Amino acid sequence: MIPQLVNSILYRLRQAGYQAYAVGGCVRDLLRGEPPHDWDVCTSARPEEIEQVFFDLPRIDTGKKHGTVAVILDHKPVEITTFRADGAYLDHRHPAAVTFLPDLRGDLARRDFTVNAMALDEQEQPIDLFSGQEDLKNHIIRTVGDPVERFREDGLRILRGLRFASRLDFEIEPKTTRAMIEERALLNSISAERIFTELKGILVGQAAGRVLRAFAPVLFTILPELAPMAGFEQHSPYHDSDVWEHTLLAFEASPPDPVFRLALLFHDCGKPACFFRDENGRGHFYGHPQKSRELAEGALRRLKCDSATMERALYLIEKHDTWLPETEKNMRHLVMQAGEARLWDLLTVQRCDALAHAPLGRNPALRNIEKWEQLLDAVLRDTPCLSLKSLAVSGDDLLALGMAPGSRMGQLLNHILELVADGDLPNEKPALLAYAKKHI
Ligand code: ATP
Ligand code: MG
Repeated sequence: MIPQLVNSILYRLRQAGYQAYAVGGCVRDLLRGEPPHDWDVCTSARPEEIEQVFFDLPRIDTGKKHGTVAVILDHKPVEITTFRADGAYLDHRHPAAVTFLPDLRGDLARRDFTVNAMALDEQEQPIDLFSGQEDLKNHIIRTVGDPVERFREDGLRILRGLRFASRLDFEIEPKTTRAMIEERALLNSISAERIFTELKGILVGQAAGRVLRAFAPVLFTILPELAPMAGFEQHSPYHDSDVWEHTLLAFEASPPDPVFRLALLFHDCGKPACFFRDENGRGHFYGHPQKSRELAEGALRRLKCDSATMERALYLIEKHDTWLPETEKNMRHLVMQAGEARLWDLLTVQRCDALAHAPLGRNPALRNIEKWEQLLDAVLRDTPCLSLKSLAVSGDDLLALGMAPGSRMGQLLNHILELVADGDLPNEKPALLAYAKKHI
């Protein structure tokens, strides 16, 4: 069912004498029985005509040159796009020119995949010129027209296809598959931002592991840092797969969240560079977490990853192999240093990593992780104050005592926090102020 809001847009365009249809991803989702997260409308009206029809509504016309006007109805933007054909894509990214078309057919033909190339008519029946419904029923991603040509027009479609396959758990049709792999170098001319958006979508999809396994060459084109893992044997009794397969198993065990997924994808990528065999022929990878972190940082910077995601992922990569404390006191200190949330995240990553080991490595690792989880729980339960936020004195109190702001103040606060957390001082303002006065 098309929501009232979108229907009112279609209705106004039709009343004004234009053709208008809901089109694209919303039709796909609706036919799959999933509520669409946004709605696109295509129409025979030109951008100026769209503006005239919706003269009374707030609009965003950032895409006007390409025929798109977004109108805001009920605080939500609905994109309205003039039927168009895309001209030659000179740089494999942007059409050099768009040609506006009089009818729907050409507009559906320019769309990337058959399941994305359907519209709904006035009776809300699908208009399906490229067997999109059949592919939807059979769970298939297939380009509209020749895949090589379509990817050469816009290389990003390779990643879009992988994203839809991953999110919907669809198979990619063989010719489309072949073209994605053969034409993967096209991705070298796509902007980092567009790549990273699609990559995150691929990583969090329900079939992400399967898609990455089958399309590793495509992934390695955008993340060459990962390529040396493929086929790299570990020569270790703790592992029964090569580094890349181990990575995929750990990745598949993780929650579908970009931070965990990126962390597990990169956690062992430094292994090939750190490999050595001892006199017994056994493989070791000393220092690999640091190396993995370095490689991940380079890759994430190149892809213009946001700093919050990057910071969390890099911490998890660097620490994935560390031994956590065995005593309450040391665990407490670690919580104060790293923060509770990061430690739970780290234990999640360690568990995924452990699950992807051979039984000889897996079982003791899982026992340790459980022990650490219990210890962390106990510390959080038993310590009333573990962060500066809940400490009874603040920087302002120290300023009032005449202390200058700066790193010395931070050190003193952290020192007081430790004493409180360890039970050596009560978390009470007078006692803490008295202590502070003595140490300024
Ligand atoms: P999502 O659910 O992720 O929003 P979507 O199919 O709606 O998926 P959008 O990026 O919102 O994807 O694009 C809307 C529609 O525009 C697509 O369904 C497709 O028909 C068309 N489209 C978008 N990007 C491209 C492209 N690069 N090449 C061809 N057609 C495209
Ligand atoms: Mg969409």
